[in-house]
Amino acid sequence: MSCIFCEIVARRAPASFVHQDELAVAFMTLQPTAPGECLVIPRAHVDHFTDLPDATAQHIMGVAQRIGRRVREVFRPERVGFLVHGYGVAHAHMIIVPQQGPHHLTSDRFARIVDGRVVFDLSRTPVADRSVLDAHARLLAADAGPPSRAGGDGEVITADRQPLP
Ligand SMILES: [Zn+2]
Repeated sequence: MSCIFCEIVARRAPASFVHQDELAVAFMTLQPTAPGECLVIPRAHVDHFTDLPDATAQHIMGVAQRIGRRVREVFRPERVGFLVHGYGVAHAHMIIVPQQGPHHLTSDRFARIVDGRVVFDLSRTPVADRSVLDAHARLLAADAGPPSRAGGDGEVITADRQPLP
């Protein structure tokens, strides 16, 4: 089984980390629809978010909440959205979306209509430069928050590029 998120968790694929602890990690989205977009995933490979243990789901929400507050401070979006749409990578993930208007999540930056069906497609969203993602991760990691009671040691690290082996 090849899962890019498991590869990131194992540090075999690059990512700009915002947060890491025993249960979850957070890193910048490779193709952000707005600056500051990032995501929180469980370390364990679970496809459906609803199959996560309650404690893990709650922990992910707590991590996203703290990073979301930081996103508001740093990037000043109108609103921060939390998105679990269940598509894309088949490893549960919550995307933290800095929204610049009420139609951000439903705009063609995330999804579009193809032959009458909604298709999630980031082909119109450029891949961000790694140095920019690293810089944004450092800004967000500065206050990713204290360890959660549910979340193990809650180690907060500064972002650094994870080299491919
Ligand atoms: Zn996985």
